[in-house]
This record gives sequence, structure tokens and C-alpha cells, in this order.
Amino acid sequence: MNRHSREELRIGRREIEHHVVWDIHRAEVVARRAVWIVNAFVGKQHHGIQRRLAHKLQQMLRINSLQVFIDHATGEPELANHEAREHPMPPAQSQPAARARHPVADHVNVQVDPERALARRAIRNRARAHARIHADLKMPSASGSTSTITSSLLGHARLRSSSPQSIIWAAMKFDYDVVIVGGAFSGAATALMLKRKHPAARVLIVEKAAEFDRKVGESTTEVSSAYMTRILGLSNYLGHHHLVKQGLRMWFSNQDPQQRFDECVEIGARYQARLPTFQVDRSTLDSHMLDLAVTAGCDLRRPAKITRIDLDGTNGQSVSLTSDPSVAEQFSCRWVVDASGRASLLGRKLGHFRPNKEHPINAVWARFSGVKDWDSYEWRERFPDYANACRTSRSWATNHLMGHGWWCWIIPLRGGDVSAGLVYDSRIFKLNEGANLGERLRSHMLTHPVGREIFGAASVIEHDVHAFSALPYSNEQVCGDGWAAVGDAAGFIDPLYSPGLDFCSYTSYYVADMLAAGLAGEDTTDRRRYYNEQYPITYRLWFETLYKDKYFYMGDAELMSAALLLDVGSYFVGLVTPLYKNPEGEFLRLPFEGAPGRIVAKMMSFYNRRLVALARRRMEAGVFGRRNTGWRELYDGFVPDIRVRKLIQKGLFRWWRAELTNLRLMFSQPARRVAAEPGAPSTLPLQQERI
Ligand SMILES: Cc1cc2nc3c(=O)[nH]c(=O)nc-3n(C[C@H](O)[C@H](O)[C@H](O)COP(=O)(O)OP(=O)(O)OC[C@H]3O[C@@H](n4cnc5c(N)ncnc54)[C@H](O)[C@@H]3O)c2cc1C
Repeated sequence: MNRHSREELRIGRREIEHHVVWDIHRAEVVARRAVWIVNAFVGKQHHGIQRRLAHKLQQMLRINSLQVFIDHATGEPELANHEAREHPMPPAQSQPAARARHPVADHVNVQVDPERALARRAIRNRARAHARIHADLKMPSASGSTSTITSSLLGHARLRSSSPQSIIWAAMKFDYDVVIVGGAFSGAATALMLKRKHPAARVLIVEKAAEFDRKVGESTTEVSSAYMTRILGLSNYLGHHHLVKQGLRMWFSNQDPQQRFDECVEIGARYQARLPTFQVDRSTLDSHMLDLAVTAGCDLRRPAKITRIDLDGTNGQSVSLTSDPSVAEQFSCRWVVDASGRASLLGRKLGHFRPNKEHPINAVWARFSGVKDWDSYEWRERFPDYANACRTSRSWATNHLMGHGWWCWIIPLRGGDVSAGLVYDSRIFKLNEGANLGERLRSHMLTHPVGREIFGAASVIEHDVHAFSALPYSNEQVCGDGWAAVGDAAGFIDPLYSPGLDFCSYTSYYVADMLAAGLAGEDTTDRRRYYNEQYPITYRLWFETLYKDKYFYMGDAELMSAALLLDVGSYFVGLVTPLYKNPEGEFLRLPFEGAPGRIVAKMMSFYNRRLVALARRRMEAGVFGRRNTGWRELYDGFVPDIRVRKLIQKGLFRWWRAELTNLRLMFSQPARRVAAEPGAPSTLPLQQERI
């Protein structure tokens, strides 16, 4: 065979392959759509009916392997095999009652059993609902037995068109029910919850990264952990693959270069954490969650980037994606979920995106190797009081170094690397210059006595240094008819206290629930209204109560410890306790809801504003951070019950004591201004000068 014929043969083979692949693909698309119709009208528990419908569709479409596709697509091949081996069905009247979640083998006799009557009503509602959603199908309202439903479905559709294929194409207006932009935590959680709540949902996840890198969002709180353990069911996975977090710990220094590590003020828990929280490596957690979503039946395109989204409400949305610069594809869908993180694709496109200019914070972070062990033998020898004071492992806590206008996180990761980053308010603090970002970060950490001890011999892991400026933003609207934003795509405030994954938890759960209801035929107008109205309130109040101007006092151990006790205490009373009582219900309510939410927000904003004012007075008087040495406050730990009031009381007393100090300062002579920290502006911004 010469070269020319070999080439012709090769081209011929490729064409055949192409046609084979294309035909299989089409057959599968048709089959999936058929599955969707079957599921939409029948419900998962009635497999007998599914089989009959499948058989009918198979005859009409002449696709021999339709049932195989259906079994494959519904993910229950064992069930199909089991059913295939079943004996011929006895007469309908003698069938046992249909029970939800236990598929009956064949005919459902809706005449004889009240439970079956309920099932029949559910099916009828579902058929009506889908008829409403897919208006172009104009489905008649079903009546009578389920077999009447199926025959009326097929019969009526036949009246409209003689081609059986057109029944499918007419019913299936969209390629997918839901397309999710971004497959990280929020996208994968939304997909997973949606499939659990509405297994028939056809979901496509599009993720642009071929592999997830280690991103920020490594420390979980009691809220995000409750979501992961109680809602997503990841306890076992988290225990095996990540670290159990031992609370939040803060370290304050008086900026004296001679201050010893063990003279720094320490605030944190004395014992093991009472509720599960974790230090997660996001690259592995996000991958695992995405795998779960795919196993649950979602389609995944990866690496593939959404390049365009066109929204058209009930008429459907269209998304364009590229997986290879030269290949663009388009899919239609009923809903688009924006889980694209800070890219906030829809928010920016629709003009809802608003940077939060009241809170000009920036972050620089990296992963380090060679970081010292907080609980080592060597340290126990050198600092016995420090070692004996605490009964839990400090290494596995989220440790924060605190300063005026900045804080640094230190988060251990499974395997030994440590994530560390600096967040600062650019009104108060400026990062020192240096050779590169990693070095600048490291040299800043070394300005703190704890940082000097911990990071003295540590080195930055190459290519793992990152920075974001203007961290906070939100969207004025977070959903519409046919779209919704979740997680960081909706908004982000500040990483102190790690609320990022809390927001991801609330929003992904809420949106999954809303979409499941919509796909089941419910009207989602009220749910959309709630989400659009409540999200900006939650964002605003969360910001005002916990973060607004906090960087002005976070370097003072007395003021910040009062805030910590009050902030975390309120968090336990308002969010954590109810969540542990009723996670499924509480994750559907965004925080600071209604009048009680606003009253709590007012109280919290009040003490936060007062602490800012006290800090300014201390700054003016030159006593800011004066008590940042020689004490530690190790409390028993926060618990989601009445005992948390003790810690709140402690916080209140500390705040009121600071108010008394403030009165004394008001009537004493103005003292020298405290020396500003490296890089800090010498005066406070003008609007902060008056108390
Ligand atoms: C400095 C800093 C520290 C933080 N620390 C914490 C912490 O300790 N604890 C905590 O809970 N939270 C923390 N957060 C917040 C946390 O990182 C985020 O809330 C969380 O990662 C958001 O997850 P997400 O899934 O919404 O978005 P992301 O994790 O950003 O995921 C978005 C995904 O969308 C994909 N994507 C984007 N555009 C497209 C597109 N066009 N097509 C396809 N795919 C696309 C991306 O590849 C990505 O995988 C921190 C944030 C910052 C800035």
C-alpha cells in the first residue's frame, strides 16, 4: 500500500469514527431526553411505568439500546436487572401499596389504596407543573389512573405532531435544566444538593480549571462545617483527608522589638473544639465535591470556560463555552447558576456588581514549608508556662497575628505545609517594600514576636504566592427568572472569622432548593424575591456588625478580645445553635432575617462602633495596645447552648471596662501619640478623628 492510499485509509477511518461517535452521541442525547420525560411525568419510584414508557419510546424511535441508556442515565442498572428477572405481574388490584422511595415492580393501582391515591395526585401535580413550565408542550391535565396519564401524554402529543421524535424535541426545549458556571465549592455543592433534592434534574457543570489549585478558604467555621457534615454528609471524608481545626487563636504584641514570644497576649480556647471544624486543603476538597456531583449524575465539562451567557427568562438561557480556543459550543438551559467566584460573571454582566469601598482591604498570601511546630518538645522546654497553659494543640488552630490595621492568618494543612497570609486596611497600613511578594509577606510576619519564632526558618513555597486587592464586594441582585448567583459570585466581605464558606453554604443550599422547587413545577417568584431582598440585607448587616472599621481596633488586645467574645458569642446564639437544631430549615434562612435579625444587628453594630471610637481615643492618648503584653485568656470554648452567655458576659464586662478607661482618658491631658507601626500613616483618616 503506497503512502497516498494509507493517507486515504486514515482519513476514511477517521470519518467513520467521527460518524460512529456522532451517532452514539445523538442516540445518547435522545435517550437522555427520553429519560427526562419519563422522570418528569412518572417519578422515580414507579419503575414499572418507566419501563413501559421506555419500551414505547423505543418502538417509536427505533433505538435498540434505549433501555440500556435509561438504566445508565438513571444510574440504577442493578435495579433494571432485578426488574427484568421479576415474575409476570399479578393483576393490578392485588399489588401491594406503592411506597415512596421503594419502586414498585409494575402497574400502580391507584383505585384501591389511599397511599396510591396520594401517589397518583403527586404524579398528576407533577405532570401539570411540567406542562406549565414547558408551555410549548401544552400538556392536558392528567386525570384517572397513571396509565391514563401516560396514554394521554403520548396520545395528545401525537395529535400535535405525527413524528414521535418531535414529541421529545418539543418536550425538551432545553439541553439542560441547569448549567452551573464554576465547579469549586459553591458550584459543586449546589449541583450535589440539587441532584439530591430533584434527581431528575439535568445539570451541567462547567469548570475552567483543569485542576483546582490550593486556594484560600481553608479554615472552616461552625456554620460551614455544619453544612459540610450535616447537609453534605462529608464528616468521614473530612476526618480522613483534612485536619480537625482547634479553634481560633489571636496573638497580640506591643511592637517592642525585645518582646519575647511567650510575653505576647494570647486569646483562644483552652480545650479541644466542642464542635467539628476543619482546616481544609481546598484543592482536594473541591475536587472531591465535584466528583460527588458527577457521581450523583451531573455532567461536567472541564477544562471549559463559559465565555457568554444570554438570559431570556422563561424562554431559557443560553451559555457558550470553549474547551479549546478553536471550539465553541452553546447550550440552552432553564437556569444558569453563577458559581464563578470573584469573577462574578453574571453580576458584572448585569451591572449588579458593587465594590465595597467603605472597607478597603487587601490580601497577600502564600504557603510555607519549614514552619515551626507550636506544640514541639523544644518549645515545651523553652516556654514551659506557655506549653502548660493550654490543653489542646495550638498547631491545629487557626492562629492570627494581630496588629493595627492588619492581621495574619496561619493555617496548617494536611501534609505539613502551612498557609499564611496578611490582610490589611489600606487606610491604616502599607506593606513594606521588598524583593518580591513572598519575601515582603515573610518579612512582615517577622515583625511580630510570634511570627519571628514560627516563621524564622520557614520558606515560601515557590509559585504559590498570591494577592488580591479590594477584597469586598457584593451584588445588588443575586437572582432573576432563570439565573442565580451563589458563594463568592454573589459577594464577599472579609476573611477574618472565615465567613466565606458560610456564605457559600447558605447560598448554595438556598439556590439548590429553589431550583429543585422550580424544576418540580413550583412557582419560584416568592423564593426569588426573598433571595434578592434578603441577601443584600444579610451582606450589609454582617458587614456593619462584624467588620466595618474593625481594623482600627484589632491591634489592641483589650478591645479586640472584647469584640471576639461578643462577636463569636452572638454568632453561636444567632446562627450556630439554631443550625444544629434544624440544619435543613436554618440553611434556607439567610442570617439577620426579619425584625429580630435587625435588632441583633443594631446591638452588634453599636458595640462595634463604640470599640472603634475607644480605639481612636486610645490612639490619640498614646495608649493604644498598652496592655498587649503579659497575659493570656484561655476560655473553655464556645458551645451552642445557654453556657455561651458566660463568654458574652465576659465580653460585655471587658467592653464596659474599656468605656471607663475612655472616660478617664477624656478628662486627662492629651498624651503623646503612639508610635505607628511600620508603614502605618502617622495620623488617622480625618473622618476618624472625632469621637
Ligand atoms: C484572602 C482570603 C482568605 C480567605 N480565607 C477564608 C477562610 O479561611 N475560610 C473561609 O471560609 N473562606 C475564606 N475565604 C473566602 C473563600 O475563599 C471563598 O468564599 C470561597 O473560596 C468561595 O468559593 P466559590 O466556590 O464560591 O468560588 P471559587 O472558589 O472562587 O470558585 C469559582 C470557580 O469558578 C471557576 N470559574 C470562574 N470563571 C469561570 C468561567 N468563566 N467558566 C468556568 N468556570 C469558571 C473557577 O475556575 C473556580 O473554580 C477567603 C477569601 C480570601 C480572599
